[in-house]
Amino acid sequence: MLIEQLKNIAIGRSLPSMKHSPTCHEVSSSPKLVGIECDNCGQRIVVEARDLGVAKGDYRPLEAALRCRVCGERGRSSAVLFDELFEAQNFAGPS
Ligand SMILES: [Zn+2]
Repeated sequence: MLIEQLKNIAIGRSLPSMKHSPTCHEVSSSPKLVGIECDNCGQRIVVEARDLGVAKGDYRPLEAALRCRVCGERGRSSAVLFDELFEAQNFAGPS
């Protein structure tokens, strides 16, 4: 089992249990919520995946297609796809 995991790391695949950055394609057809944090100004937002307006068949990381709504920086955000609503709520913090 461990050998199998090491092999996965060696060829650059993430382990199933790890959160990975979604691709544009993945997000375009997802019913989930996406959290985005700007690495430049720290702004955090949670949006519905479909509202991002990214294209099917675009296999770039989602981060590459995003532009911060506050400071306008492009390609410097971290994005995560949430499985559960409470994860999105934790990410956004107390309102
Ligand atoms: Zn920003």
